[in-house]
Amino acid sequence: MPEELKIIFYPDPRLRKMSKPVKDFGPDLALLAVKMLDLMRTGQGVGLAAPQVGKNIRLFVMNATGKPEDDRVIVNPLLSDPDGEESAEEGCLSIPDIKTDVLRLKTLRLNAQDVNGKPFEETATGFVARVWQHEIDHLNGTLIIDRMGALAKMAHRRKLKDLEDKYAAAHPPPPPPPKPPPKKKRK
Ligand SMILES: [Zn+2]
Repeated sequence: MPEELKIIFYPDPRLRKMSKPVKDFGPDLALLAVKMLDLMRTGQGVGLAAPQVGKNIRLFVMNATGKPEDDRVIVNPLLSDPDGEESAEEGCLSIPDIKTDVLRLKTLRLNAQDVNGKPFEETATGFVARVWQHEIDHLNGTLIIDRMGALAKMAHRRKLKDLEDKYAAAHPPPPPPPKPPPKKKRK
């Protein structure tokens, strides 16, 4: 039985890894994308990156409108041609209950591959460009809490600590190795 796919939460170390480019396009990748779109919808998110389900590969799914026909799978993304900046509130499915203003580039070009490996190019302004940047941050191990200001950090300190405590309780450190028997002293 394959392990059930689920969203992982801050401070899981898998959220901090640099993800690797996707090289194998096939049924397994398509199935992963479908499952991620399901999880994203269940969590009422607009995007979900592979590291958020514990897979450190450069893939994310998104849907900027909520309409089924706007489901997108984006693989090996590259951003270029930035123009302008804009601050707006963001949340993250891996950091529940925290919303914070994040400054992002306003307009960007995206070069990527679809789930079948076919390259495409798109330009977006505003919300869609923001989702791209949020999800690509995930592929590089960056979270919105890294992009929030000192005041927001203070405001959210308690919630972050709660998440850290919850993670620690679910992942106790391994027991220390048994002590070697005491050496016999020579008389
Ligand atoms: Zn996120």
